[in-house]
Amino acid sequence: MLASPFKAGRELTLGIIGGGQLAKMLAQAAYRLGLRVAIIEHGADSPAGRMTQLEFPDGWTSPEALNAFVDASDIITLENEFVAPELLQAIAQRRPVYPTPETIARVRDKLVQKQTMAAAGIPVPAFAGVATPEEVLSFARTRGFPLVLKSRTFGYDGYGNATLDTAEELPRAWEMLWQRVQHEGILVEEFVLLQKELAVIVARSRRGELAVYPCVETVQQDHVCRVVYAPAPLPEPLRRQAQELAVACVEAIDGVGVFAVELFLSQDGTILFNEIAPRPHNSGHYTIEACYTSQFENAIRAVCGLPLGSPEMFVPAAVMVNLLGVRSGSGIPDAVTEALRVGKAWIHLYGKRESRPRRKMGHVTAVGATLEEAYRLAQQAADGIMW
Ligand code: ADP
Repeated sequence: MLASPFKAGRELTLGIIGGGQLAKMLAQAAYRLGLRVAIIEHGADSPAGRMTQLEFPDGWTSPEALNAFVDASDIITLENEFVAPELLQAIAQRRPVYPTPETIARVRDKLVQKQTMAAAGIPVPAFAGVATPEEVLSFARTRGFPLVLKSRTFGYDGYGNATLDTAEELPRAWEMLWQRVQHEGILVEEFVLLQKELAVIVARSRRGELAVYPCVETVQQDHVCRVVYAPAPLPEPLRRQAQELAVACVEAIDGVGVFAVELFLSQDGTILFNEIAPRPHNSGHYTIEACYTSQFENAIRAVCGLPLGSPEMFVPAAVMVNLLGVRSGSGIPDAVTEALRVGKAWIHLYGKRESRPRRKMGHVTAVGATLEEAYRLAQQAADGIMW
């Protein structure tokens, strides 16, 4: 095992594959712990790349850039799960990579992910892998409509999903998805009638130590997360059940690092697994200001084999509101003064160069004695930012 960065007698460099906002917040936490950071991303001047001299802007598909990045790093982690498994395996021959390539292989494909969870006894919506529209119809014959088609790989923020209410909608949706997945395969799922969507962040260290964050409610619109309520406004036993399920999911993939487990609370009160992200997640941004140890810091502690910090909230309530792009153009907001007048909200602007409608450009967190109070402050600040 690699020595602790605080015992090795030299600076330790954390290599992060990806340079977006998650890598940026990981880097901020890494700097606080006295580490150095290396970033590899396709393109210069990414939100995290611009924070370090160890920036490798030719990306991981360039053998030279990847080689130099690996040379510069002592431990490697990632901010997205879309890196080719063979590439991760090759990196892992030279440096410790967490989450491990084996864990990533179990989550990268949503079909394999669901099969892994189902095999571990975790409740999941009915699902099947399909290769032809006829197979979708055969699934619909037993399960009925509506149903959801999902690309097995590279889906995020609903890109790659299609909900079908009737068989007539199938040819168009199939055509659209099949183009997109380029034959990597499609997953079909029963449509779950939702009461709420929940998420739990779990950190699991190289020593198997666990830090389980509170169960939160995520509110999605148009398949994109808009608001996160922490803790979820639900009875405590239900929240505890969600936390226990989340731990079982992370153990099912032998995860080391930080994981976000997204869950459905169905209208009949059942909690079902939706998906797991092997990295810090939008639903855990509130942990920066509302918990003793943020998801980002615990991700670093977990992959470095350091003791984990407390995931507990030290305030009764926290709310995070996403700042989504509304225009195509500059990523710099036109005005933030009104938002800054809300003295009790934390504003995060990711520094992306380009804005696009629905793109995550930043977020605001506020805390309070109640969720209502925290929501009011966060939304007031979010409304004060002009794009
Ligand atoms: P992504 O990976 O793009 O985030 P998800 O599979 O999490 O995709 O789906 C995005 C959103 O679509 C979910 O948060 C939920 O609101 C809705 N959704 C996904 N699958 C189902 C389902 N089986 N039943 C009902 N709603 C679903």
